[in-house]
Amino acid sequence: MNSQTLESWSSVLEKIQSQIPGESFSTWFDNTSLEEITEDKVVIGVPNRFVKTFIESKFSEAVISSIRKVFNKDLQVQYKIVQNLRNKVEQALKDGVNLKGDTPPSLIEPKKTNYGQSSVKTDIIPHYHRPKNYYGLPLVNSYKLDNFVVGPSNRVAFSGIQSVLESPGQYNPVFLYSGSGLGKTHMLHGLCHELLTRNPNAKVIFISCEEFINDFISHIRGSKMDDFREKYRKVDVLLIDDIHFLGQGNKDQTQDEFFHTFDALYNTSCQIIVSSDAHPKDIVSLKDKIQMRFISGLVAAIEPPNFATRSKILKQKCKEKDYHFSKEVIELIASNITTNVRELEGALVKIHAMSRFENREVSLELAQQTLNIQKHSSVYTKNSPEAIIRSVAEFFNLSYESMMLPKRGKNAIPRQLSMLVMRKLYSFSYQDICDSFGCKSHASVVHGEKCALKAVEKEPSTKIVYQKLVDHLQAKP
Ligand code: ADP
Ligand code: MG
Repeated sequence: MNSQTLESWSSVLEKIQSQIPGESFSTWFDNTSLEEITEDKVVIGVPNRFVKTFIESKFSEAVISSIRKVFNKDLQVQYKIVQNLRNKVEQALKDGVNLKGDTPPSLIEPKKTNYGQSSVKTDIIPHYHRPKNYYGLPLVNSYKLDNFVVGPSNRVAFSGIQSVLESPGQYNPVFLYSGSGLGKTHMLHGLCHELLTRNPNAKVIFISCEEFINDFISHIRGSKMDDFREKYRKVDVLLIDDIHFLGQGNKDQTQDEFFHTFDALYNTSCQIIVSSDAHPKDIVSLKDKIQMRFISGLVAAIEPPNFATRSKILKQKCKEKDYHFSKEVIELIASNITTNVRELEGALVKIHAMSRFENREVSLELAQQTLNIQKHSSVYTKNSPEAIIRSVAEFFNLSYESMMLPKRGKNAIPRQLSMLVMRKLYSFSYQDICDSFGCKSHASVVHGEKCALKAVEKEPSTKIVYQKLVDHLQAKP
């Protein structure tokens, strides 16, 4: 690259800078480079896909017009992810310095709330690792996106969160709602971690609604509303946890301010993500105009996880806590605690504590005693793979043992139909089904499911049998 081209590139950057706010410029363009320039195109280097998508979606006009002004012609603009720019960002994060090389300003430590796990001191990111433009809740280190177990109950919500990373602004706002203990706060922390890893300079605010309200009130009291607006309206991403608090009590003024904050951010394509314990329409006393804004984006419910997802979550938590629980104990917990992931985790901790306290191995018996589960209670492993195979065997008047035999015979169709219901009705993974039938590889399960599906679609008699089997399983107490 000759010095003249480099000079032209710095003119381009200057022109871009004159069109967008100073902080945004340094956030998104500090780590870009001019990689190539030819007769008809310019290739701009960026550290990762996130920065590329962000620049393309928010600043593309500014980039194109600046290039046109400097080079006096329209050039095609391409972006390329450049490894050494990425290394620079990663190293800066590791060292805890910002990318311009000055020492990181310490962040204002947010007030501790009695909400969530934010007070778990040992689990939060050390101070010096916090990126400079992040303000809000201390991020819980163990709430990451890669240890969040995804299943049918939370897939849409998780995709919404991923869309913020892959194509910011595609859904705006992203509104997540569910009952308590189903992973909303975990996902928001995970998203923040990921946003800041991909771009440590991004301006991100992540607070609880309670804190937003308190902040608003204290700014009003101090007649500092300009500061409040400056703080909340100049960000790239705003995340608010438990937004339903906005509807509680007499919050007329706060709701209006939130509405204006929302509009100001929305109009500058800032990404907004909120979580709530109810659908926007069901948040008591929430103003219609705010409801409408929420509904205009992606509204995603998180349902209680099914058995297969509950088992996966338990396995994941055991791994993180270094607990060695047998498959039977995991299935016992997953069969009995069905509505709340926080309680699933609590059961693991309780059983582990009991085994230490009584100096006993973690056995099925110890788990039953700790959780106070009767051995023959109706919910006892009702939805475990084994219980389902037993029910299917009962339906076809076969023994459980004959269902286990891999060779073809009169068990072939019942086996295949079991595989189909285990996938469709209970969302077990191929691996789980493979393990419960003792298959050599999960390809046999894929094949079994395919044969059953074909038969159900093509043969009216098999369709009737399948429907009766589903009714039989669903009618079980
Ligand atoms: P909410 O905010 O919906 O009340 P949280 O995010 O606080 O729920 O989740 C409660 C607990 O359950 C946390 O420890 C979280 O890590 C865990 N959890 C919830 N869903 C999942 C999941 N799908 N995968 C892993 N952990 C989960
Ligand atoms: Mg929460």
